[in-house]
Amino acid sequence: MSTGTTTHPAPPLEGVWADVVGQEAAVAQFRRAASPEGSLAQAWLVTGPPGSGRSTAARAFAATLQCEHRTGCGACAACRTVLAGTHPDVTVVATDKLSIAKEEVRALVMTAQRAPATGRHRVLIVEDADRMSPGTFNVLLKSIEEPPPSTVWMLCAPSAEDLAPTIRSRCRLVTLTVPGADVVAELLRRRDGVEEQLALRAARAAQGHIGLALRYATQEGALAAREQSARTLLGLRSAGQAVLAAQELVDRATAEAKEHADQVAAEERERFLRSAGIEDGKVPPALRSQLKQLEDDAKRRQTRLVRDVLDRYLLDAHSVLRDVLGRQLGTGGELVNLEVEPEIDQAARAGDGRVTLGLLDGVQTARERIAGNVPPLLAIEALLARIAISLR
Ligand SMILES: [Zn+2]
Repeated sequence: MSTGTTTHPAPPLEGVWADVVGQEAAVAQFRRAASPEGSLAQAWLVTGPPGSGRSTAARAFAATLQCEHRTGCGACAACRTVLAGTHPDVTVVATDKLSIAKEEVRALVMTAQRAPATGRHRVLIVEDADRMSPGTFNVLLKSIEEPPPSTVWMLCAPSAEDLAPTIRSRCRLVTLTVPGADVVAELLRRRDGVEEQLALRAARAAQGHIGLALRYATQEGALAAREQSARTLLGLRSAGQAVLAAQELVDRATAEAKEHADQVAAEERERFLRSAGIEDGKVPPALRSQLKQLEDDAKRRQTRLVRDVLDRYLLDAHSVLRDVLGRQLGTGGELVNLEVEPEIDQAARAGDGRVTLGLLDGVQTARERIAGNVPPLLAIEALLARIAISLR
């Protein structure tokens, strides 16, 4: 029985690269760098919008660097363990909190100093590298400036501007683009077994966000809820309705975030108590600060989740208004929100393109304000009231 050790170099989009869809230029850049005759930078910055596949691309590159055949064959033990997250020389740091802790980065820097155990390289992948404070960036900087010869850093962030200039000037930049709905649909079909029409609908609604597309395709009622939100948005006619809609939206986002954060917090608490050998739930004073830390983490996680849910809503609202604008300008492109076409046509007739452009700016402003710590309810209320008045 063959063990797959005679694999030939993989053509594009096979092996570990199969799931990195719609990113031909970036994949070519990575593969060139990983080839024996390529020049391998020791610090990489992978940028691209959320859901475009930054961490998938970073893992694929890590696998290619460790691959027994140097091709990212996807079949050898090195490739498989990297993709499964169990390779001893590939460390991935991800956060679902608002920021990556300095201690976490310190530990990572220590790991970066060690020679690889089994592979050719030690690879450190930092997802959400933009979620670091300036102090944490400084901890990282020293290691990125002078890494041991076999260490490769991979930082992922929405854009290069999200990182301190001192860091980004030391990284080789790879830019991912928003993958098209067709390639995302094809991925859902092939990788996740989603039926073709549903895959296309989900991919279109997710606007190039692969994880979101999968959720739309597999989570009961998710697409329907999105449609309902679009309908509510286009049905706003008064400031009073806008205030109510904003409150409902924020309440729903908070409930969704709380449910998830509570679940994670309970699991973490239980794991902590178990590892400390506590069975009766009585935490000795010496361990209370650690437990408090866990609780604070949970709160931060929930705050970020609320913002993420609302940001997703605002991106949806943006797509609805863009559809309206498309109709007003007669650009004739396919609607993202095909399911609410009658409402979009009605809104297009009610206003003009200049006003809609102003509303699109308003959505961006709301996103920036929420990211900048303005209370979400205030930002969303202001936006929806503006939309309601212009649709009246
Ligand atoms: Zn391999």
